[in-house]
Formats: sequence, C-alpha cells, structure tokens
Amino acid sequence: MTNQTDIKDFTHERLISWLRDREIASYRAAQILKWVYLRQAEDFEGMSDLGKALRELLSSHFAIPRLEKIALQRSADGTRKYLFRLRDGNLVESVLIPERDHHTLCISSQVGCAQGCRFCLTGKGGFIRNLTQGEIISQVRDVKQELGGSARLSNIVFMGMGEPLANYENVANAVTLIGNGGHGLAFSHRKMTVSTAGIVPRIPELGWQTKVGLAISLNAADNPTRDMLMPINRKHPLEKLMAACRRYPLAPRERITFEYVLIKGINDSPDHARRLARLLRPVRAKINLIPLNEHDRSDFRRPEESVIQEFREILVRHHYTAIIRHSKGQDISAACGQLRAHGETKIFQKT
Ligand code: SAH
Ligand code: SF4
Repeated sequence: MTNQTDIKDFTHERLISWLRDREIASYRAAQILKWVYLRQAEDFEGMSDLGKALRELLSSHFAIPRLEKIALQRSADGTRKYLFRLRDGNLVESVLIPERDHHTLCISSQVGCAQGCRFCLTGKGGFIRNLTQGEIISQVRDVKQELGGSARLSNIVFMGMGEPLANYENVANAVTLIGNGGHGLAFSHRKMTVSTAGIVPRIPELGWQTKVGLAISLNAADNPTRDMLMPINRKHPLEKLMAACRRYPLAPRERITFEYVLIKGINDSPDHARRLARLLRPVRAKINLIPLNEHDRSDFRRPEESVIQEFREILVRHHYTAIIRHSKGQDISAACGQLRAHGETKIFQKT
C-alpha cells in the first residue's frame, strides 16, 4: 500500500481538528468514525452520507487498513490464537478465549516487552516497538468483524504481548475509541481490563482517564522475591504499587484483579500465601492464581497440584476470592506468558 495515514491512529479530537483546518464541520468526524468502527467500512467511497469531495479528500489522506492475518491456530479447548503481520513486517499475537456465553479477546500492546520478567517468554525476546493506536484497535475491530453476529465478543483484556502502561498514550486512546458507544466499537469500559506489571506512576491516570478494570501482575508479596522475578519492582516497589491500587477508582462492586503466577519453590509456600493475604487486606481484591506455564527459556517449574490447592485454600480462609486459572490454549502456546510471535515454532493452519 501507500503512505496514507491509518485513520485509526486519529482520536476523535484529532480528526475534528484535521477537518477544521480544511474548513469542514466538526460533526463530520463522528460520522466518519461511525463508518470505520460501527459499520466496519473498508474504504471511504461507500460512506454514503458524506459528499463526494469529502470522500475523495479522505481517500487521498487516509486508509482503513486491516491487520494481515497470517495464521490462526485452534486449541483443543476452543482457544484461538491469531498471528498478525504489521505494516513494517513485525508480528504480533491476539488470543480469543471462549467462555460460557461470550468471548474474551486478549490483545497485545507492544511488539515484545522491555520489562524482562524472568518467567515470561514475551520478556525473553526483548522490546521491539510500541504498537500504534490503530494497531491496538485493529486487533479488536478485525476479530469482531470475523466473528460477526455468531459469537458475542464482550470482554477485552490487555494481557497479550507487552506492557500496556509503557505505551500509555496509545493504549489510553485505543481504549477510548474501543469504548465509545456513539462512534467507536461500543465495548463497555467495565468489560475492558488493563494488566500491568506495575508502572506505578501511570496507574492513577489510567483510572481517571479510562475507567477500565485494573489487573496487577503481582507474583510475589515481598520485595526481595518480587525484585528477583520482576525487575520493575526495583524501580516501583510494593509499597508504592499498593498505595496506587488503594486509590484506584472502582465502581461499587468492582475489584482489582491480582495475578499471581505460582512458581515451584519460589513463591508457593503457605507462608507466601499468608503474606499475600496480609498485603492485599487494604485493597478490594480478587486473586487469579496462574500455575506457571513452563517453557524452555527458563528453569522455573510449576508447583504440584496439591501445593496449588493449599495455596488457594489459605487465601479462601482469609476471605479472598481466589481462582486457579489453568491457562487455556497451552497446546498452541497461547497461554499466559507464552506469546512470542515468532511464527516458525508451530505448524500453522492457514485460513
Ligand atoms: N505486561 C503486562 C500484560 C501482559 S499479561 C503484565 O505483565 O501484566 C501477561 C500475564 O501472564 C501476566 O500476569 C504474567 O504474570 C503472566 N505470565 C507471564 N509469564 C507466565 C508464565 N510463564 N506462566 C504463567 N503466566 C505467565
Ligand atoms: Fe512484559 Fe508482562 Fe511478560 Fe513482564 S509479564 S515481561 S511485563 S509481558
């Protein structure tokens, strides 16, 4: 294609000012975005409520590209992993997870990740670049179109590749458009969750600006263990992280999700469970326990099932909602921490 701008990289406000510079009424912006998002338009020619001159102007400056889907893998449990090629050739993955009556889409915010968490395969590959606003939105727009009316896509989680709060502006702008009911993709902000390893200074902003659900990849309830597992903790230690969580704006029955990857001999003892219970006491919390997904780039192992159960029971005795998340899609490397978008590791089923 060309060097036209992806219109999905424009916020509503930016499009208004672009139009205004050309003496075009600002209400046109919402009309255009409605075509792009609600009606899933492929180009500007068919935007029948715009005049011909405006359609031509838009076509000469903008495009509405789709991500290039180069592979789709299906897991035995119904999970689907999409491998997309971006315009510059980089690869990125999104994972579609079927639940009882709806689907959850797990999307990526960066190519790779700079945070270097020791148990995470995405982190092992290092950081390549931030996704643009348009690339983030496209994962949702394209999968939604593919599903059509056949299956309800209702939840979006930023738990794919990358650290969303290290690409704050693009993530926040994407969330705004994905959530806009008038001219965006009309997902409820309460059905979107941003997961962070703990870029603490961005957490307050995320709360008041986007009103999305917050998930924290905690993985340890004391600084020495967390420093070892997640280098980000040395910069933003637990006290600061928990203070930001306490102030995070929550709707009446909403809670913050704390993800805790259970790693054998590292963070899985009854003492660790009690420490976790104590740490989270001041916060409205629910806990997702994720038994480590093992991979060949780390020596960490998953605890025995009995250890996992005991860990959970301690939390339940302390009155927490604690769910063991046996990650879906492990057979296609679509589970938490397994995304790396290399493309050559498995036999892909072309679609
Ligand atoms: N960077 C953000 C968003 C990615 S979410 C974050 O870290 O929150 C990825 C989730 O997968 C995190 O909760 C992380 O703790 C978890 N994870 C990473 N590697 C894993 C592994 N090997 N097994 C299980 N979970 C893992
Ligand atoms: Fe990055 Fe999250 Fe993986 Fe850590 S767990 S390396 S922050 S993707």
